[in-house]
Amino acid sequence: MIRKFRKIRFTSFSQAEKLAAVSLLIAISFFTVSHWMALIPLFFFLLLCTIAPFCPQWGFFLPIISKSITESKAIALTFDDGPSQISTPILLNLLKQNNYKATFFVIGKKAVKHPKLMARILEEGHSIGNHSWQHDSLLMLKSKKNLRQDIRKTQEILMKHGIHPMTFRPPAGATNPRLKNILKDENLHCITFSCRPLDYGNKKIMHLADRVMKKLHPGDIILLHDLVPPGTKQTDIWQQEIALLFSDLQKNAYKVQPLENLIGFPVMESIQSETDKPDLNLSTILSNLFSDGS
Ligand SMILES: [Zn+2]
Repeated sequence: MIRKFRKIRFTSFSQAEKLAAVSLLIAISFFTVSHWMALIPLFFFLLLCTIAPFCPQWGFFLPIISKSITESKAIALTFDDGPSQISTPILLNLLKQNNYKATFFVIGKKAVKHPKLMARILEEGHSIGNHSWQHDSLLMLKSKKNLRQDIRKTQEILMKHGIHPMTFRPPAGATNPRLKNILKDENLHCITFSCRPLDYGNKKIMHLADRVMKKLHPGDIILLHDLVPPGTKQTDIWQQEIALLFSDLQKNAYKVQPLENLIGFPVMESIQSETDKPDLNLSTILSNLFSDGS
């Protein structure tokens, strides 16, 4: 196997680490005036630490890409929580009809169950990112060891499909202070989103297209889901909403770009096996040349 992975640059100190140092300095200076006053900067720092995990666009604990700064109407489509036997083919067909390329942030456990869907996603030119092993909603509360295992296990499964994801989207976009070093070690970048229609994992699909279009801005990364909506006929309605969204994007002159083009950073890299490589050895080329037609 050839593994040429570009190293991702992480800044040495996160916003949280810098703010912790500043808060501590202020607390020490306040301490000389009043012991109680010293608690004020520490309280605000802890308050920010409590809020930050639930702010998907705020790179408080680690660098996060949630959108692109652009004047043009370029946007990217992302579909989370698949693959799924029913919803993935629907999405792939609609994407093909519109000649759009999307990114699927897949769940490791589901990728194991659906190798053919994984292959089809890649064959049709879409990208795949890591979205954790089983989408545990309490993943960010787990120990560093368990969090690392979850992400690495998913990476290993996805690498069996011939790709090395370079992007990780945390479930629900939640982060924690431990994630930075884990992603750095795994050569992954944290990608969230800037346009969320609040479909609650396709449980709320009515007027989905309208909700996206009302919130959409140039450079946005749209969060949608590759999940079967619960309830009868809901899948048909969801399919119609996605088709409507795609046509609304065209009508409003939005240019759907592959995520890597929008953010200027690879979402994944292909892993080329030695057997797939062309044999460029001169003696082999000459021998093939002279053996032709003989
Ligand atoms: Zn998800």
